[in-house]
Order: sequence, then structure tokens, then C-alpha cells
Amino acid sequence: MKYVVIYGSRDIRVEDVAVPTIGPEDVLIKVKACGICGSDIHRYVGDRFGRRLAPYPLNSGHEYGGIVTRVGKNVKRIKVDDRVTLGLNWVRDGMGAFAEYLRIPNADERPIRKVPEEISFNEAAQIEPLIVALNGFWGVKPAVTDRVLILGAGPIGLCLLQRCRSEGIEDVIVSEISPRRLDVARQLGAIGIDAAKEDVEERVHALTDGEGVDVTFECAGAVPTTKQAVSLTRRRGRIMLIAHYSKRTEIDPEEIVSKNLVVYGYGSYAENAFEEAIRLILEDKIQLKPLISHEFPLESAKEAFEVALQPAISVKVLVKPTV
Ligand SMILES: [Zn+2]
Repeated sequence: MKYVVIYGSRDIRVEDVAVPTIGPEDVLIKVKACGICGSDIHRYVGDRFGRRLAPYPLNSGHEYGGIVTRVGKNVKRIKVDDRVTLGLNWVRDGMGAFAEYLRIPNADERPIRKVPEEISFNEAAQIEPLIVALNGFWGVKPAVTDRVLILGAGPIGLCLLQRCRSEGIEDVIVSEISPRRLDVARQLGAIGIDAAKEDVEERVHALTDGEGVDVTFECAGAVPTTKQAVSLTRRRGRIMLIAHYSKRTEIDPEEIVSKNLVVYGYGSYAENAFEEAIRLILEDKIQLKPLISHEFPLESAKEAFEVALQPAISVKVLVKPTV
């Protein structure tokens, strides 16, 4: 089968390897789609965040949708032909869904989940990042009347936007430098700010009568947006940091103190996040199709990663190992 290996910074190769054999506790999954996550890009580039994870060489793929083709004799929860997602510990294992087949060991102990027929494999591959967004949402619990600012319209920011809108929140401001991503945000109901051309501070002040927003989601992981999160959130407002930071940023702790801000780091705040993700997709409250900007076959993994590296032209890039 074909299998992707990242050997080092921007060194990615597609190799021919044996289809994994499975033990009595394992399952084998035919991978239909695997998304390139921000964390995969950090690894591909080899920046500060990327390097502190599992060492090279590694595969990295964890946002997958696939179909079970073989099941070990002791496995109880999963059956052949189940459509599945989740269950990979990418931080620790650096394993393995950028491949035609994926072996998941000790399948019953891992949070592999079955996906209903109505949800496509392309959508299934985005359930993991959607769950990240749902966790961020429940960490802050924005109220219907809150004004929300989302900094960065990558897949997480776009899922958060839709989750806030589905809650009935009217004013969701999204600031983004990529015209392509900003377009998608506007289509999904955001008040868009083109951070490449407009003065973000001025626009947010104008939109909030000079008060600032109640809730900010920092989804860009960049130095200027982290500062904006602190400066554009109103007194007693809440900030959720929901990105990975490859550069250190300088924020003024005195500003957090004097404004009585609450700053959350990303964590698993949502209960039943998987069930909520499935429900939101089935009820059309979260659309994942508009987030897919590119699809590549597995052989073009290098090109796929290079495109994913350019937020100006891409949103979610999917690798499609099998048809
Ligand atoms: Zn991910």
C-alpha cells in the first residue's frame, strides 16, 4: 500500500509498504479521506511547536474518515464495514492516516466512533477539528446576546462561527488576512474584517460602540492576533486561546488585570462532543463542505502539504488515499 512519511522539514515522501497485519485487539481501516490539520503543518515545517511532538520520521495523519475492512477476534465494539473516525493519538504516536490502510491497535480501548451513512467520508474526516471547536465553544459558553470576535478563519474558526450562529448569536465578527478564508466566513454569516486591508481595532470598536467584544476566540496562533484578543475584548470579557503558537508573543498582563479578563486555554470542555458534532452536521447547523478547498490523491501528498501551507489559497486540504 501507499504510505506517507515525513522525514524532516518539508521532506515528505510517499512509500510502498506492506499493508499492516492486525493482532487480535486491532482493527484495519481503509482510509477514504484524511485532512491536513494545523498541527500536521507545524510538523511538516518543523517549527517550535512541530518539533516538540513525536520525532521524525512520522506520518502525522489523524483527521480521517474510513471504513473497517478487518477486525481482530477479540474486538467487540467495531465490525467490518463500519464507517468510522477518531481514535488516533497524534501527539504521542505520530501515526498514520495518510495511508491507504490504517491499523489501530487496541481498538476497543480507543475512542473510535461510528459515523452514520448520511455523513460523507469528507465530513467524517473533519469531525475531529469540529470537536476541537465545540470544546472551545463550551469552554467559554457565549450567551445569545454576546458579541463574539473570531481571530482567524481556518477550519476551527469557521466551525466556531457556525456554532455561535446556531446558538442564535447575531454578531459574530471574523477577522482574517486570507481573502479565500474571509469569503467562506462571510458566506457562513460572519461580519468579516479583512485584516490585510482594514484596521482591525478601528473596525471592532466601530462595530461594538467602542466597548469591545464580550468573547474572543483566538484561532490564528499569531503574534498580532494574540495582542488583539486582549485589546479588543471588553472589560470582564472572556478570551479562548484555541491555536498552536510557534512564536512567543508579548501580551501585557496588566491589561488582563485592569480589564478583569478571563483567559482560557484550549481543553476538553464539551461533554458528548462527538454526539453534538453528529447532530449539528445532520441538522445542517454546521456545514463542513464549504471548508474543503482542495482534495489530492495520496501520491500528491507533497503538493497537498505545500497548498495547506498557504492559507491565502486554502482552507481545509483533504488527502484521499483510496476511492
Ligand atoms: Zn487535528
